[in-house]
Amino acid sequence: MRGCSKRHWKAAKKWVMENRGPRCAYCRRKVTRANATIDHIVPFSRGGTNHLDNLAFACLQCNLLKGNMLPEEFKAAMHAFFGRLIWIAAWRNKFVNTDRKD
Ligand SMILES: [Zn+2]
Repeated sequence: MRGCSKRHWKAAKKWVMENRGPRCAYCRRKVTRANATIDHIVPFSRGGTNHLDNLAFACLQCNLLKGNMLPEEFKAAMHAFFGRLIWIAAWRNKFVNTDRKD
């Protein structure tokens, strides 16, 4: 995380875990230590801050796909790309299966 000390990062992760739960904010998949990333809900490059209000867990996949999009843009892009029903079906399937491995 840019502009953050290791200590802030650790505290932020703990806060997000306690206040938002161990789930990806975008696909709702359970995140683990291995794939949890802290995402800036409003990206740094779009004026977002390191404030706790702006932080959430994202799984690696969502974090990579989202890039510097706003959450609404990310959702819109996913819908536009896959089509709403296919997207929901595919992701649910995938994440139900992945959840079982946790
Ligand atoms: Zn995700």
